[in-house]
Amino acid sequence: MIRLSEIRLPFTVAEAPETPLRAAAAKILGIADADIAHLHVFKRSFDARKVDLLAVYIVDITLAQPAREAALLAQFAGNPHIQPTPDMAWHAVGQAPADLPLRPVVVGFGPCGIFAALVLAQMGFKPIVLERGKTVRERTKDTWGLWRKRELHAESNVQFGEGGAGTFSDGKLYSQIKDPRHLGRKVMNEFVKAGAPEEILYVAHPHIGTFKLVKVVENLREQIIALGGEIRFEQRVTDVVIEGTGDARHLRGLKVLNQATGETTELRADHVVMALGHSSRDTFAMLYERGVAMEAKPFSIGFRVEHPQSVIDRARWGRHAGHPLLGAADYKLVHHAANGRAVYSFCMCPGGTVVAATSEPNRVVTNGMSQYSRNERNANAGMVVGIDPRDYPQDAQAFETHLGKTYGVEALPAGQFHPLSGSVLQRQLESNAFVLGGRDYSAPGQLVGEFIAGKPSTQLGSVEPSYKPGVALGDLHAALPDYAIEALREALPAFGRKIKGFDMHDAVLTGVETRTSSPLKIGRGDDLQSLNTPGLYPAGEGASYAGGILSAGVDGIKVGEAVARSLLGVAG
Ligand code: FAD
Repeated sequence: MIRLSEIRLPFTVAEAPETPLRAAAAKILGIADADIAHLHVFKRSFDARKVDLLAVYIVDITLAQPAREAALLAQFAGNPHIQPTPDMAWHAVGQAPADLPLRPVVVGFGPCGIFAALVLAQMGFKPIVLERGKTVRERTKDTWGLWRKRELHAESNVQFGEGGAGTFSDGKLYSQIKDPRHLGRKVMNEFVKAGAPEEILYVAHPHIGTFKLVKVVENLREQIIALGGEIRFEQRVTDVVIEGTGDARHLRGLKVLNQATGETTELRADHVVMALGHSSRDTFAMLYERGVAMEAKPFSIGFRVEHPQSVIDRARWGRHAGHPLLGAADYKLVHHAANGRAVYSFCMCPGGTVVAATSEPNRVVTNGMSQYSRNERNANAGMVVGIDPRDYPQDAQAFETHLGKTYGVEALPAGQFHPLSGSVLQRQLESNAFVLGGRDYSAPGQLVGEFIAGKPSTQLGSVEPSYKPGVALGDLHAALPDYAIEALREALPAFGRKIKGFDMHDAVLTGVETRTSSPLKIGRGDDLQSLNTPGLYPAGEGASYAGGILSAGVDGIKVGEAVARSLLGVAG
């Protein structure tokens, strides 16, 4: 097959692209239309930078006489837009023996755990999955309990339960990771097989939306079970069993609390994928206490901003705003503030809602979600400021207050950062937001115009915030450290110069946005096992090897393969 890229056509061809694309491809290659046996759209994006909006395509074509392909490719050698179509198929590491003594275990059933378990199951390893939360249907009820009735279920919420953190999300499925083996394509293909819309395979910024994602997750679960895997819900890993010291140190099992019965049992395991997500702070602390190598890492903090979607559509699509082919527009913004901080948009949700995303009582965290249709009134995105371990509290009192223990922070040499200190900062900010919001899970909020002017807000304007259970207007400057407020005050008008209306007076900020990525990294070596605890495979967003659904799925595949290689005794 031959891959042609950068085919630019008027955007309206997207309604029925086959004929114009065949004509364009034939012209580029200097062949007749009839020489093309099959044309497949691999990617489609829209380019709004010129006066005329364009659809930009990458297509794969098969010639009626495939033997001609090599000669044609040779004729265009060196042309980056005419290339052989790469092999994007996933190839299994091997097949599990029938007499496997001990099954691999996957902790966490978010995108990373799902794909680790799926590839292990597809290779015959019959993994056992332990997930602290409930099945996605039960979890949905609990999650809505916070949004509708202000009742938080600490083990079943936006962060915890089947499908992981991304289940109640926009379901955006793109990432900027390097992916030379095309593992992202495997993730997308499996999503489509499990019921996601086929268009996610070719649109430039695919998304599934919450309702469809729920069904996809259930179908992936069924596939793993059909292949001999087992998924145990409401099973929280509370401890790891490590034997030996030095080079002989090895993970040999897990202590698992059955959350339904309160009973703790021990599960023998030599291969454990830890795909915990970024919010499993109790499990991070447990792994720290057991001496698993980890370090504090940068993440970001900020607020969520909401605008009318029409403002964003007009700025992005101009006179074509509202055209059904284009859908709700998104944006991506970055500003380097004078105080040295980077401010950027995070997890932008077109036509979506702001959601309450805490997993812990008496804390407030914001995030965003949308349905496949993306037809809610407002656009929302995190407006976040990059921070690093130098910004995290390193004092015993803060540790005592927010982790219940000092974890030896008082004995750290000057200039070193405690691995759990990012969690301490997150808890400080989330607890503070709970208080600022009125202690009932309302989010503290402020109008953008008043935030920039440094005046508290008392009344909403034209933008109705979507956060449930509610927004308590006031002054957000007490919600974040001064450097973050300063950087955000500078960034919002700068963003208004890039997207007309972005700094409009009535746009609403709500906070706080703290779960942007994991506050720590659980290091691993080339074999993807923990740096000092073989048998433990740190994976996904919690261990800092992913940021988003797609990259977490890709990391799950990599780690599933690494476990298979170790069990089969084959080199990587
Ligand atoms: P997670 O999805 O967090 O899964 C970890 C799982 O492990 C959880 O289910 C948890 O219950 C379980 N677990 C934790 N500790 C234990 C334990 N001790 N024992 C047993 N189980 C345990 N990303 C995108 O790409 N696109 C989006 O549109 C998007 N929107 C988002 C919207 C929201 C509201 C949120 C919260 C996140 C969003 N994200 C989005 C981020 C995305 O969800 C994460 O990057 C992704 O889910 C990380 O996958 P993961 O498998 O590494 O971890």
